[in-house]
Amino acid sequence: MRFVVCIKEVPDTADVKMDPERNTLIRAGVPSIINPFDAYALELALQKKDAEPSIEIITLSMGPPQAEKSLRETIAMGADSAILITDMAFAGSDTWATSTALAAAVRKIGDVDLVFTGQQAIDGDTAQVGPGVAEFLGWPQAIFIRSIEHRGDGEFHTQRITDTGYETLSIKAPAVLSVTKLLKDPRLPSLRGMMKSKKAEIEQWSAEDLAIDPALVGLDGSPTRVIKTFPPERREGGVMLECEPEEAAKKLAEALKEMHLT
Ligand SMILES: Cc1cc2nc3c(=O)[nH]c(=O)nc-3n(C[C@H](O)[C@H](O)[C@H](O)COP(=O)(O)OP(=O)(O)OC[C@H]3O[C@@H](n4cnc5c(N)ncnc54)[C@H](O)[C@@H]3O)c2cc1C
Repeated sequence: MRFVVCIKEVPDTADVKMDPERNTLIRAGVPSIINPFDAYALELALQKKDAEPSIEIITLSMGPPQAEKSLRETIAMGADSAILITDMAFAGSDTWATSTALAAAVRKIGDVDLVFTGQQAIDGDTAQVGPGVAEFLGWPQAIFIRSIEHRGDGEFHTQRITDTGYETLSIKAPAVLSVTKLLKDPRLPSLRGMMKSKKAEIEQWSAEDLAIDPALVGLDGSPTRVIKTFPPERREGGVMLECEPEEAAKKLAEALKEMHLT
């Protein structure tokens, strides 16, 4: 079986700064990491490979040439190979255009059984790309999953997290799965993996390699426009009522009245 795991490089900071003119992230000078949910997606795929070593795992990222660093890390963790799709034509892609490009890469890789994505990217935060890739491939999808079990004959059982618990879904490959936080942390790179990752050739594909019409990706191919971005207003600190519960309840009721909330 062949699994593709989508890896997005994201800024390693909660203090994301935006370019007010272009409404895009300012990435210069900010260190990058593998999107944490993508590390869980890779961990889940690797657990399947631990049990069935013939499974081939290919990691796939769309991003600037520097994203190669994160892809090498995935090889150090246990992926077999990695592909970076990188081209100025992809710059400014929204989730539609990103999904278009990733789906085209999955088609080019060929014979893929499962595509894994993270539940969401911690910077863009839309959780749209996994479902988008499934739609563009015309494959079924299970999102927010935390486990998979191969039942044979291309059928998988997945546990999908819901607000109230979980559902068990049966899904037929080829399919797309978006992965939520697992109970087990993603594994660390092994020494052998690190040696392998140093020597590994990371294939780079352009829009032309993917036979994508440049008008379908990048800013031109993006139906979404970010028209305004702003940091949320900082909340003022709360007030501690350090007194007996009855008195605290009275003071709270008065404060709420003053705020016209009662
Ligand atoms: C008009 C516009 C302009 C934009 N310009 C830029 C820009 O210049 N630079 C920029 O960085 N972002 C830009 N963005 C944001 C960018 O479109 C999104 O970050 C991207 O489409 C992914 O969406 P997301 O981060 O919400 O991912 P989600 O949908 O939350 O991600 C879910 C999962 O999909 C996979 N995934 C997502 N993106 C990738 C990827 N690139 N490669 C591999 N796997 C991936 C990962 O597994 C991830 O966990 C722009 C957005 C808009 C609307």
